[in-house]
Parts: sequence; C-alpha cells; structure tokens
Amino acid sequence: MRGLMMDVPLLVPSLLRHAAEFHADTEIVSRTVEGPLHRTTYAGLHARAQRLANALVALGLEPGDRVGTLAWNGYRHMEIYYAVAGAGMVCHTINPRLFPEQIAGIIDHARDSVLCVDLTFMPLLQGLAGRLGAVRAIVVMTDAAHMPPEPEGLPPFLCYEELLADQPDHFDWLALDENEACSLCYTSGTTGAPKGVLYSHRATVLHAMASALPDVFNISATSVVMPVVPMFHVNAWGLPYAAAMVGAKLVLPGPKLDGASLHELIAAEGVTFSAGVPTVWMALLDWMAANGQGPGTLKRVGIGGSACPAVMIERFENMGVSVLHAWGMTETTPIGLAASPKAKHRNATPAERLALSGKQGRPLYGMAFRIVDAEGRDVPRDGRAFGRMLVRGPWVAAAYHETPDSPAHAIPGWFDTGDVVTMDADGYVTIVDRTKDVIKSGGEWISSIELENIAVAHPAVQEAAAVARPDPKWGERPLLVVVLRPGASLTADEMRAHFEGRVARWCIPDDIRIVEELPHTATGKLLKFRIRQLYAQTEKA
Ligand code: ADP
Repeated sequence: MRGLMMDVPLLVPSLLRHAAEFHADTEIVSRTVEGPLHRTTYAGLHARAQRLANALVALGLEPGDRVGTLAWNGYRHMEIYYAVAGAGMVCHTINPRLFPEQIAGIIDHARDSVLCVDLTFMPLLQGLAGRLGAVRAIVVMTDAAHMPPEPEGLPPFLCYEELLADQPDHFDWLALDENEACSLCYTSGTTGAPKGVLYSHRATVLHAMASALPDVFNISATSVVMPVVPMFHVNAWGLPYAAAMVGAKLVLPGPKLDGASLHELIAAEGVTFSAGVPTVWMALLDWMAANGQGPGTLKRVGIGGSACPAVMIERFENMGVSVLHAWGMTETTPIGLAASPKAKHRNATPAERLALSGKQGRPLYGMAFRIVDAEGRDVPRDGRAFGRMLVRGPWVAAAYHETPDSPAHAIPGWFDTGDVVTMDADGYVTIVDRTKDVIKSGGEWISSIELENIAVAHPAVQEAAAVARPDPKWGERPLLVVVLRPGASLTADEMRAHFEGRVARWCIPDDIRIVEELPHTATGKLLKFRIRQLYAQTEKA
C-alpha cells in the first residue's frame, strides 16, 4: 500500500528560502578580499541570490550549464551556491591550490560556461589565458570600484555587483527533480587524476540534515558557525547548506586563515562551532598559546580530511573546546563517520575519552559500511581485524562526471573508499591507512597514521610523515620525515626514543629524517607519493 504523503522534492534553494523566511535577520558575516568585514542576513542573501539567478539567465545560461567558482568563503560565494542551484545550473567549485594545468584541465572537463572569480585569483586566472575551455565570460566577484583591468587572452570580464544591480529581487526557483545535479567538485587527485563528483539536490539536502544532528556538527539556530574548510573543498563539508537549514549565524573567514585572523573573528563574532583540516587548527592553537589567548565562545570544532592527532584533541579539550573528529571524502558529500560518544561512555576516563575522539567515528544514519578482506569477506567488528572500507548511501557517488572509470565498485552497489580500517563492536572506525600508504614490514602492516600521531605528540615536532621505504630484508620499513617547530631542536635518536613504549618495537621507524618542510596536496594533506619519491628512495640518513 502506498503512503499518502505529499511528494515534495528535496531542493537546495528550499534551505535558503526557509532561512530567509524564518531566520530573516540572522547574520552572515564575511571577511572580504577587498578588506573590511561585510554583514548581511539570510533575507538579504536570499534576495541577492535571486537577483544573481536572474542575471545568469540574462547572460544566456540554461539549466544544466556549469558555473565555475574560484573563490574564498564569503557571502558572494554563498549567493552563487544558491542562485546557480536554484536556476537548475551546476556550481563547480574549483580548488585554486591545484596546479594551473589541473585547474585548466578540470575547467575544460567540466565545460564551465562562466567563471566567478575572487579578486585574489586574478594572477592565477592570467596564467590560464588561452586554456579556459568553453568559458564565455569571467564574473569578477567585486564592485565597480575594484574592477581590475581586463587582461589579454581571457574571456570578457563582468562585474558581479553591476550584474546584480539591474535585476529584480524575485526569481522562481525551478521546480526540479531532486535527483538533478546542483554542484560539482573534483577530487584533489591525491591518488590519481582529479575526478568530478556531481552532487544532486537530494544528496545535498539529506547530507545537510544528517550532518547538523547533535552527534555530528550539533548546530542550531543558537549556533554561530564558522566554516574554515574552504567552500571549494567538498562544499565546505556542507556547512553552507546545514547552517541555512537550522538558521545558524554564519561567519565566513575569506582568504585569511591564519591563527590571528581566525581568533579575531571568533572573538568578535562569538563563533561557537568551526570546522576544518588539522593544519589550520595547529596554527590557531599555536597562536593562542604564543599570545596567551583562550578560545572565547568557541565550544566545538569539527576536524577531518586527514587524521586528527591526539595531541590536538587534548589541547582543545584542555581549554574546554570539544573536538568532533569526522571522516569523509569528496565522493561522500563528505561526512560519513563522526566520533561522538555514546551514553555508555559517560563515565569514561579522560584517557578513554581521548582514545575515542581519536577514532574517525561511527556511521551517520544513511550511510552503510562494510569492512572487507582481500577476498571480499566481511572482517569481524572487533577493533582489531582490518580491511578495506566500503560505503553505500544516498550521498555516495555512483559514478564520476563524464569519466569512463566509475568509482571502484569491487562489490556491486558499494563504493570502495580505498581506506584500510578497523571497526569495533560499537561501530567506531579507526583508519589504519589509505591502501596506497600502508607500510608492509615482514608481512605485517604498520599504520603510518599511528606513527605520525605519536611523532607530532612530541613538543618539538610540528609535522611528521611516515612512508614505506623499500627494504631488502623486510620488504618495507617505515621512514619518518619530521618538520620541527620554529626554534626547536631534536635529533633522530631523540625522536626514536620518543616511540619507545608507545608502539610495538618492530614498528618504530629506524630511518628518521629532520627536514625543513613537507609537500602538501591542494587540500592540505601530506603528499605521500611525493614524500616517498623525495626521501624513500635515498639511502638511510
Ligand atoms: P582525496 O581523495 O583527493 O585526497 P578527499 O578530500 O576526498 O580527497 O579525501 C578523502 C580521504 O581523506 C579519505 O579517503 C581518507 O583517506 C582521508 N580522510 C578523511 N578524513 C579523515 C580522517 N578524519 N582521518 C584520516 N583520514 C581521513
């Protein structure tokens, strides 16, 4: 028997319309690339998003067309998110930290018709002259007073504010099928060429609903949310949607992601929740320590994208900020796991709580998980047996945009994450490694993440990477490459001694190098294959 409920599609503009209607005066505060802070409200944002949608249609864009963005977190980028989706087009957020050839490649691959670009990225754009595929126009995200001169070899420049100026405040958001695409994001290419993940309205709305829940981001109309994770990194983990859904105040930090600038915004705007990759938090924690400052109103931080070191969780928790460690991928919109405690952990000791927060988390409702061995058999959920993690759910990619090789589906209907993990009886997952990064020594696996976590817990260490080095006797041995904090000193022997008692003896890296810096991906992760190229092929130091 069919249910007799209304069939109302889940569409992205409904999030902003709801916020504009019922949280009309809730603020969106942005640090602009032009300099000053900008303040608007959900009502203001909704009106301008409609103007922008009218402007895009006036430019001749049609449903299904791709609109690329090269932009920081700010109100204009929010307007583009909603206007483009609401007009049935696809918002393609481009990571400006990719190599120029990769940027040109994905703009061409996505067939972007228009690019919306922050002033900061004008030099980057100039470098792409002649390589912009199907791009017909560049919308410079600024006002007439700040318009740059039009460089040669690029499509015509249009001024964002001038485009909006003549347009009406009203646009009828299209009545789309909820499975239509609303945004497009390319994987950062850590493990191959970037591939396009084409999010649907339905996946985006369901993900927003799941991620706002108390055991995940825990945001509400009383929250002040600051996504530090860029809007070009898996849609800032969905926060521009989840914040509108719950009517939270949004604080968008623009181009300034250093400790001092983030702290200033937290203090001035009363930020209660923020989210980002471990590297930005290290900078903020160090800045607070060096300047004798506390976290102010900040209550909770979401950390993910790469493993959150225990020492970071400890430093935050010691100042009363709870850490939500979460796991996700571009292909999973992104959140799939979050490490919130259960009732049974109420009386956990601080050490037990820390261990729990150090895990990548347990599944959100909506996402199904399997951990399988090389033969595709499910491994026991005992926190020890490990295998490849497969996922399935309404916000998991079923195919890549215009790419013949579909996501790895070794088992039909399941997406292979490429992560090697354990899951315990309560469903908490610990990532041992990415398949390509595990260190296999004498037939046993050594977790590079565990070694890195231990290394960065040493006060002299700023960052550490553990990679496999070929070894004639053991097959592979761990090599640890370490960057020290400014002014700190540490020898390889002292580093090795720090591992004693923290990990089995045979896991302790016998080759340890202290270096000036480590290479990173466009999303701030350690670039493991490059580190292997640089260090793992040379003789032990
Ligand atoms: P890319 O796959 O190009 O690096 P993603 O941002 O999609 O870009 O990265 C997803 C991967 O990041 C996951 O498969 C996992 O290996 C890693 N990752 C994400 N969150 C965590 C986390 N909390 N701990 C450890 N690794 C993580």
